[in-house]
Amino acid sequence: MIGAIRQTLEAGDQVLIFLNRRGYAPVLLCEACGWQADCPRCDAHLTVHYNGQSQRNSYSSNSYLKCHHCDWQAYIPTVCPDCGSQNLDAKGMGTTRLSENLHAIFANPQTSKELYPIIQIDRDTTRRKDSWENIYEQINKGNPAILVGTQMVAKGHHFPNVTLVCLPNADRGFLSADFRSPEHTAQLMIQVAGRAGRGDKAGRVLIQTLQPDNELLLKLVKDGYLSFARELLQERQMMGLPPHRHAALIRCEGKTLAATTQALKDAIAHLPNAHNLAVLGPIDAPMSKKNSRYHAQLLLLAKDRRQLHHVLGQWWQPVLALPSAKYLKLTLDIDPVGW
Ligand SMILES: [Zn+2]
Ligand SMILES: [Zn+2]
Repeated sequence: MIGAIRQTLEAGDQVLIFLNRRGYAPVLLCEACGWQADCPRCDAHLTVHYNGQSQRNSYSSNSYLKCHHCDWQAYIPTVCPDCGSQNLDAKGMGTTRLSENLHAIFANPQTSKELYPIIQIDRDTTRRKDSWENIYEQINKGNPAILVGTQMVAKGHHFPNVTLVCLPNADRGFLSADFRSPEHTAQLMIQVAGRAGRGDKAGRVLIQTLQPDNELLLKLVKDGYLSFARELLQERQMMGLPPHRHAALIRCEGKTLAATTQALKDAIAHLPNAHNLAVLGPIDAPMSKKNSRYHAQLLLLAKDRRQLHHVLGQWWQPVLALPSAKYLKLTLDIDPVGW
């Protein structure tokens, strides 16, 4: 990938590198005891925001820990809060770290004859007014450059001089627990790949993967999206998942997980006796604690859409009136996008 990037730059073209993760690194880990910096309000790691110009172990506008779900911020500790070790390490790679590493290879006089600009495009670099316009203008001058972007760059932008698109670390989406994740990942990959070769020159796309023989990925690359989608649809049919069955997702949010789970249990008890209706849950939502609130969920699946909606019509108002649902937030999501 590095060789292809250099080749493209030397030919006078631009490179787009897609990494859907902003910040410096997604995890801060203690190498001595395994402690990780987690958000106190969410079931999530804090992202390390840091860049080479700032002191790593002190608080500045460039150096901090941040939750990408609730915006909670903290200092980067100098020692592990659990064991006192100084052996804290940022693990994984976000757009800032990737840009820094590329800088060391392609914009450093010791390693590169020509110095190429590395342009980072994500929510952190485009927050200020006019910053996106300035970036866009710089790109559209057409000089050789490396663009590093999150999904902000996937859609709608026309970069005529980009002839190489790189997708490092493309596996995450194919390994996720959400059954719709491969579908969404493939769509994003197709969109990003579509940024290559939009001008007069042909484009090339490089995908970095730990599973080069992943069947779905091969299908997508060799046979295209339609063929990939047909394969997924077959899988969905075998597993009885949408669009072959129709879904309704009931989410319950409250101050404790016990209360939200209990309300959903009571809701099940009020469900009319319906054949061909699968009830899954209640279970903890994928990120059950978010912004200090707890989430549980219940999934209903039915072959017959009309029957499902008939049941929901009878059931939903009594559920909202349940004594155990008082003070909780209950929502009903028909044809949910994920669960
Ligand atoms: Zn430790
Ligand atoms: Zn949080």
